[in-house]
Amino acid sequence: MSIENTIRCILREKVLPSHKEKQLTERGMIYVAQGVNLDEALGGNKPKEIVFCPHQDDAEIGIGPYLAKYYHAKGFLFVYHTNGVGGLIRDAASRERALQLFGKEPNEIVPEELVQRRREQAEKAMEFFQVPAGIFLGYDSIKKGHAREREASIETVALLLNAIKPEKIFIPQPFDQHLTHRIATYICGCAAARASWDGEILGYSVWGPVPYDVPTQDEFFEEGYVDMMRAAIHLHKTEMVKNYGEAKACMMRMDAIATVNKPDALSERYLMRNMKLGHLKGMTRQGVRDSIASCIHDKKMANEFLENCDK
Ligand SMILES: [Zn+2]
Repeated sequence: MSIENTIRCILREKVLPSHKEKQLTERGMIYVAQGVNLDEALGGNKPKEIVFCPHQDDAEIGIGPYLAKYYHAKGFLFVYHTNGVGGLIRDAASRERALQLFGKEPNEIVPEELVQRRREQAEKAMEFFQVPAGIFLGYDSIKKGHAREREASIETVALLLNAIKPEKIFIPQPFDQHLTHRIATYICGCAAARASWDGEILGYSVWGPVPYDVPTQDEFFEEGYVDMMRAAIHLHKTEMVKNYGEAKACMMRMDAIATVNKPDALSERYLMRNMKLGHLKGMTRQGVRDSIASCIHDKKMANEFLENCDK
């Protein structure tokens, strides 16, 4: 299947209003819109590495320093599964934040406003790292009750892998505490098993570290790259109550101490695909599912994950 068809299949709506798209194009950025040929949009340069993100801030949290170090050298494509509406500011404790960010009371913010805001924040982060293309699949959820969206996501990821044949893809690692992240791991795993593609798969961390007893690829970073990660994460202002930047920097220091015993180093550890995720190639969905479920030590959480994969 051609890339053009692929993109037609997968984009649910135009990514940006045309005037904004034009502005961004003039600044050297291209967002792929519905019906646009991805090859043309990328100027014939196919992305070498794809980052699959359940939410709008996962690329920056998951591989922020890697993006800071390599954005000049590699072509990235970001693919966002959900539209981020799940993070809607609802509680009274978020009042100050809602007033500050939206100029409204929490209960007055409609979902569309948050979706729009989260997309804009993602666009700013892409601009920050000069990421040439992003695909927003725009699903409200990929969890239980959204089987259609989940299936479409699997289809999309498989089509992208076949059409682009990236050297490497980044997906959430299966030990993540966030259910949506693990569903995204499952989606990408099923797609990788189905696609005729055999590139490298690395699992990145957002909600929790990769355990120390599994094979990883370690990458070391200078402070400056970590500062860039912090700056990029801070572009996601709607999420900033969670202080991910500091949490991630601490995790990187911890990883460096634990793996190479260097207190001043900063490392990011990515789970390598060929162990806990199996080899994936030709694996059944059940195999991918069981492999991910086996990474979840809490029985209740494991059952929740399996249930979510079923319906
Ligand atoms: Zn996330």
